[in-house]
Amino acid sequence: MPSWLVPRGLAGRRGFLSCAAAVPFAAALPGEARAQAYAPLIEDLVVQQVPGAPIYYVLGHPGVPNGTNQGHTSNAGFVVTDEGVVVFDTLGTPSLGHAMLQKIKGITDKPVRHVVLSHYHADHIYGLQAFRDETGAEIVAQTKALNYTAAGNTDDEAAAPRLAQRREALAPWVNADTRIVLPGVVFQVAAEIRLGAHRFQLVYAGPAHSMSDIMMLVLPERVLFAGDIVQNGRIPFMASAAVNTKNWLAGLQEVSLLEPRFIIPGHGKPATGAAEAISFTDTYIRYVRAKMARAVAEWTEFDAAYEATDWGPYRDIPAFGASNRGNAYRVFLEIEAESLAAGDTAKPAQ
Ligand SMILES: [Zn+2]
Repeated sequence: MPSWLVPRGLAGRRGFLSCAAAVPFAAALPGEARAQAYAPLIEDLVVQQVPGAPIYYVLGHPGVPNGTNQGHTSNAGFVVTDEGVVVFDTLGTPSLGHAMLQKIKGITDKPVRHVVLSHYHADHIYGLQAFRDETGAEIVAQTKALNYTAAGNTDDEAAAPRLAQRREALAPWVNADTRIVLPGVVFQVAAEIRLGAHRFQLVYAGPAHSMSDIMMLVLPERVLFAGDIVQNGRIPFMASAAVNTKNWLAGLQEVSLLEPRFIIPGHGKPATGAAEAISFTDTYIRYVRAKMARAVAEWTEFDAAYEATDWGPYRDIPAFGASNRGNAYRVFLEIEAESLAAGDTAKPAQ
């Protein structure tokens, strides 16, 4: 375990202290990696600053990654300390990651020391390649991120088919040179990075939206990078076997417990209060769960239950068409499994 990474427990919350595990990390060798020519962006990144703090972020567009939004659909950010920069997430293409690094260099000449990934999904990690090749930063994620391999040994987003899909959908920004970069340092439940006068508390909140969801609380400012536990302004993607909406709701409660003063979600606009930040995701997950729980309890087939549900409150939200039906089906299966585990197997009397 590197000396900067301090394992910590969440006293009283999860009841145990986990030890951070380190995997071998190879620092970038001089001359080994050179910034390659990345396809230019059609729209510049806009960096915003948390008021009164050396904390910066960029906001992605709503909707799913496509040629119009150039794959810029997720948020990312960075914190400038006396001793270097900590980055949280790297955007959805190597070009975007490279552009973000240029923005950092325009604000500080301090080196990027750590890159923390909220979770391993394409829209947050494809920019990592630029940070791997152009900085000596250590790449930090939750242990399960190591399963995100091109060999397809993953219980989350299937890495290889996703890369093939993005090479088509996001050409020329995702291309034959785009590769998946795994973390060099991983932890299981909680860890802390200390750099300059700042502390960065890393908290595992998964499996929820993915197997490897984490959040990062920046102290002393109490600014929370919430990753995809918190999403606003679009229908969150839940159609994966790794999604656990029960844990996801618990993760949203954790956001409140961390008492952040400013929250930057994985998608959508930031908020200054936890209640405001979590409201959209929390309400949506509870809505889908309530509708599908009723269908499971009444032994209604999924298709019929889906058609009978009033999706009016969500129909006009970006990514509804791409994600909602798959989300509902996944939640239907999850609740079916929950009720089987609870021994709720008797078909109700007709
Ligand atoms: Zn995302």
